[in-house]
Formats: sequence, C-alpha cells, structure tokens
Amino acid sequence: MLPLNDIWKKACEYIIEEISSPVSYRTWIEGATPYKVKNGNIYFAVSTTVNKNMIESRYSELIINSILEVTGEKYGIEVTIGEEMDDEAEEKNEKKENVTSKASSKYTFDNFVVGSSNQFAHAAALAVAETPGYGYNPLFIYGGSGLGKTHLMHAIENFIHENSPKLKTTFVTAETFTIEMVEAVQKKNTEAFREKYRKTDVLFVDDIHFIAGKVSTEEEFHNTFNALFDSDKQIVLTSDRPPEEIQNLAERLVTRFSWGVKCDIQPPEYETKVGILKQKAKDQNINISTETIIYISDNININVRELEGFLTTLSAYSKVKREEEVTKETVDYVISKYISVKEEEKTVTPKIIISAVAKLFRVNEDDITSKRKTKEIVIPRQVSIYLCKNLTELSFNKIGDYFGGKDHSTVMHAVKKVESYMETDPEIKEKVQTLTKDLTN
Ligand code: ADP
Ligand code: MG
Repeated sequence: MLPLNDIWKKACEYIIEEISSPVSYRTWIEGATPYKVKNGNIYFAVSTTVNKNMIESRYSELIINSILEVTGEKYGIEVTIGEEMDDEAEEKNEKKENVTSKASSKYTFDNFVVGSSNQFAHAAALAVAETPGYGYNPLFIYGGSGLGKTHLMHAIENFIHENSPKLKTTFVTAETFTIEMVEAVQKKNTEAFREKYRKTDVLFVDDIHFIAGKVSTEEEFHNTFNALFDSDKQIVLTSDRPPEEIQNLAERLVTRFSWGVKCDIQPPEYETKVGILKQKAKDQNINISTETIIYISDNININVRELEGFLTTLSAYSKVKREEEVTKETVDYVISKYISVKEEEKTVTPKIIISAVAKLFRVNEDDITSKRKTKEIVIPRQVSIYLCKNLTELSFNKIGDYFGGKDHSTVMHAVKKVESYMETDPEIKEKVQTLTKDLTN
C-alpha cells in the first residue's frame, strides 16, 4: 500500500475535479489531514466542528470514491477534531496562504482573509453558502465595526449566485427593512412588503441590532423570520454584539436568533491584518512589496476599515510621484498627513455632538438648539448638553450659548438629569454610551 499521504495527494486530484468550487476545496478538503488507517477506515484530523460536519454531510462520499480510485479499495472515513498537525499539513497550510485569488472589487470568499480571529465565522458562512437552509439557520455573525461581517454576508450571497443561481436572495440592512416597513404601513401596501421578504430563499439582514426596541418592526421581523424558518429558508444576520446582549431586543427574537449558529469575529491579529492589507492592495491594483506592507502595519495603528482608505490615499500619492512601486518615503508622508487629519477629526465640538445626537434620536438638529419643550426633544437636548460637558473643555456658560443662551444653572441641571437617567433608564444609558464611544473613537 502507498503511504497514506501519497494516497491522499492523489485522491485530492480527483476531489478537486469534482468539487463545486475552489474555495470549498481549500476550506474543507485542504483543512483535513489523514493521519492513520485502522479497521478499514482512514482517519482525518480537522480543526473545527464545522469542517467535520461539512465533510461528514457533504464530502464523505466524494472522498471515499476518490480514495477508491487511487487504491482500488473502499475505505470508510472518520473525522476527528484537533489532532496535531504533522509536517505535511503545515506545508499545506503555508501553501494555502499563497493561493492567489481573482482580484475583485466585490466582497467574496476569495478576497476574505482568514485568520484565527475570523476562522469560525468564515467556515460557518461558507457552510451556509454551500447548503443554504440546511443546518446553520439562522447564521448570526457578530463583532465590532469593520471586522468583515458585511463582507462575509456579501460573500455568501455572491457564492450562492454563482453556484445556485436558481435561489433567490434578498439583502437588506435592518435600517432599510425598518424604513420600508414604515412606508408600507403608511401607503397601505404591507402585502407587497411581506411578499418581498417572505418569497426569498435566503434573507440577509445586516446590523439587525438596529431594530431593537422598535416594537412594530420587531413584530414584523418576527413574522418574517417564522415564515422563512418554517419553510427551511436560510436567514443570515449580523450585529455588533450577540443576541442576548442587544439591549431592548424582544425576548422571542433573542431566542430565535440563537437557534442556529452564532459566531463572533475578533479584531484581526497581526498576520491577518498584514494579509488583509495585502489583499486590499491587490484588489486596488497597487504595486507594493510585502516589506512595505509590513512597514505600514508596524507604523500605523488604524482599524481595517480605515486601512482601505489609507491605501487609496497612498496609491494616489504614489501615482502622482510616478513610482513604479509604492516607496517607504511615500508611506511615511501619507502616514504623517493621515495622522494629522485623524487628530483633527478627534476634536469634538458641540456641532459634531448635536449632529450625532440628532441622528441617533432621529430628531432635527435645529430642534435641539431651539426652545421647544416637547418630550421628544428635551431628552436629546439634555444628552447633547451632557456630552458637551464631558467631551469638550467648554464651560457651562459657553455650552449654554450653543443651546439658545441657557444659563449656567440650566446647563448644570441638564447634566444632572442625564446622570440620573444613566442610573434609571437603560435605553438612554446605552445611547449615551454609544454616542460617547462613537464621538471619541
Ligand atoms: P463590518 O460589517 O464588520 O463592520 P465590513 O465587512 O464592512 O465590516 O468590513 C470593512 C472593510 O474591511 C471591508 O472593506 C472589508 O472588505 C474589509 N475586511 C474586514 N475583514 C476582512 C478580511 N478578513 N479579509 C478581507 N477584508 C476584510
Ligand atoms: Mg457592516
């Protein structure tokens, strides 16, 4: 009998011919390492449960038949999780890093860089893309801003369009869902609205936390969810936090969002960040060496979303200087410019605060600084004043000036009020915390 590794290498040549897409091959098959033969079974080690499930449910027959082609014998297969990698596997893993994917401005699995921070979310997303409605329903991806949640959702959708073109997909942000619903109610055509969201095979709702506390949207979404779920249609959701931590989210939704699989994405560790930068440079056709990419990662500490803008600026400067390849000098120059702009952005002014508060509370900026005393406006005004006190260096009197000439004691009263809401009203507390975070980031 051939050594196990040789059998597997040959079997893989058959598998790659038969499998639906290269990314499936890379993720599920390359992720498996055969390590022993016992009682007519070949044992494979994989690193995640998802990989094990996918092999067992989707690829076992293909693997068994491919091994049969190579050896002329029918082996069974056993998949185990977390066996140590041998040299061969390590080598393969390195190769995986070097696989070149088609440059695409779209968000796909091919241009999603996988690292330990997002490995599970990536695997679950791919599993859903291959078998929508099958096992992981709903798929709930959560994590901080700019970590690739929306990217993964689009990747699933693109994959489905390519591989299961008959399936109808619907992609919406929770905000759009809410707006469309309100409009449908106003225009009395809720039927069309329902039709749109219930006659789909895969529904993607981005940033689902947005609907929390909006009672009729929650109600409508609950019904949509049930209709889709009951007919085995796939639902994919993203959020900035796990369902149970979304403040004011209706309990029945918290429960439903946890029925399938929940996976979080963590901020990328160093290697992944470098990988993402490389990928983005490639997507934007920027000629830059790995060395310079590493230089960037080491010298500027910004999040993934900002990195993309940074690269665009870098590329523009480099082109102006007619560089064939982006140089370190240009990187230094753009970093210095970029950082000073960021510092400027960081200075919080009453105007910025009022605009952020108005947006979050959905009121007019002008109303906040007006003298109107209706309840909807008083709280946003008090919150604005509170944030001015906490996030700027301005005195009570100066702050008062911004809010239609209020005196010292009125401003102080507003600050005290918000401080007490922070203890008694979780909704306001959350809003204030969100605003503080957004404004100081
Ligand atoms: P989120 O929805 O989590 O806030 P996005 O999906 O919008 O984040 O990602 C922000 C940007 O960062 C996008 O350009 C996305 O392509 C990129 N990005 C984030 N993570 C990755 C990754 N692992 N591989 C490639 N690009 C990534
Ligand atoms: Mg997003």
